[in-house]
Amino acid sequence: MSNSDTAGKQSGGKKPALETLAIHAGSEIDPTTGAVVPPIHLSTTFQRNVDGTFPQNYVYTRADNPNRRALETCLAALEGGAACAAFSSGSAAAAALFRSLSPGDTVLVCDDLYHGVHHILVDILEPWGLNVVFADMTDLDATRAAWVDGVRLVWLETPTNPLVKVSDIAAIAEMAHAKGAKLAVDGTWTTPAVQRPLELGADFVMHATTKYLGGHSDVLGGALIAKESGTKEDGTKESGTKEDGTEEAGEMFAKVRYIQQIEGAVPSPFDCFLVLRGIRTLPYRMRAHSDNALALAQFLEAHPQVHRVHYPGLESHAGHHIAQKQMAHFGGMLSVQIRGGADAAIAVTNRVKLFSRATSLGGVESLIEHRRSIEGDISTTPADLLRISVGLEHPDDLIADLQQALG
Ligand SMILES: *Cc1c(COP(=O)(O)O)cnc(C)c1O
Repeated sequence: MSNSDTAGKQSGGKKPALETLAIHAGSEIDPTTGAVVPPIHLSTTFQRNVDGTFPQNYVYTRADNPNRRALETCLAALEGGAACAAFSSGSAAAAALFRSLSPGDTVLVCDDLYHGVHHILVDILEPWGLNVVFADMTDLDATRAAWVDGVRLVWLETPTNPLVKVSDIAAIAEMAHAKGAKLAVDGTWTTPAVQRPLELGADFVMHATTKYLGGHSDVLGGALIAKESGTKEDGTKESGTKEDGTEEAGEMFAKVRYIQQIEGAVPSPFDCFLVLRGIRTLPYRMRAHSDNALALAQFLEAHPQVHRVHYPGLESHAGHHIAQKQMAHFGGMLSVQIRGGADAAIAVTNRVKLFSRATSLGGVESLIEHRRSIEGDISTTPADLLRISVGLEHPDDLIADLQQALG
């Protein structure tokens, strides 16, 4: 099992470990005041020097500002990427990547995924001209069989929302590259403390920073991290064809950056500050979320009212061995199917005292949700399924609450 704790050592001891990067990447002592915690820069505009240049290259806050740059620097470092573009939501980050493609291009998408991304693809981008093809990416043969000419991007969630299905990132990256496509992974459920897709061969990682990265259910945001930035250190465009196709990935990211700066679906300076503050404790939180989730999954699996538990940390999970290979921990999300159908499942959510009946995930408080109720018409989620975002309360208290709610 790879382990975030050894990330620094794996690269010869030169790169700091994730815990250290989470605290220091993108952080510097404020040069004007000595403030250890960065100030929030609300100014929308920045003065030119007399020679016409801009100090630190800040011009106008839609294009860039100090808080956003700090967040982007930190996220790129945590994922081992060349660059990051922060957005006002995870959905905006995903949409920007899809629109770095051209009408007529095809995206191959995993068949169980966040319903909002499904809506973006089918309701907004198919009419715009994108072709969308779905495949069960837990099955490599099925993925190969679903392939069509013109696939430029593969979109993968693992574990998936809400069925917690696990796919082999390295194998799908290899397949995509062999067929001339790029791979993007929705890393929202895992974060770089659990799984690092770029190191497994992916070209892009998307995050809803709304979830674990912010970590406290109080800020909406998104980010897209790229292995290749498409620009050199001095800001000029990379040129020259690279045989491995990385130039194309760089061009896609350059387009994402352009969409971010020109359209302005960007997080406010305060939002960036909050997400970065959340990230400082991310590796410790993810370990605790994962430990608590495993304890809950084991409790639920043994409960007579429970029909099925979906959690990659359980040996009974179909993707357990792949999860062991590519995840440092098993994450804080699980789904459970309750005996007695939708009514019995909803009744459980109505009896919990510690869990909140709410959507979303990744905060310190535990949430429980009848998933089909929120997904609406397109939902194929089993009607007896509850999705649980396991928080950081003591696991004994969480188990006791579920015990009484299950009756
Ligand atoms: C929440 C979520 C998103 C969308 O993020 P928003 O910030 O709500 O736009 C995308 N993917 C996954 C897996 C999510 O959980």
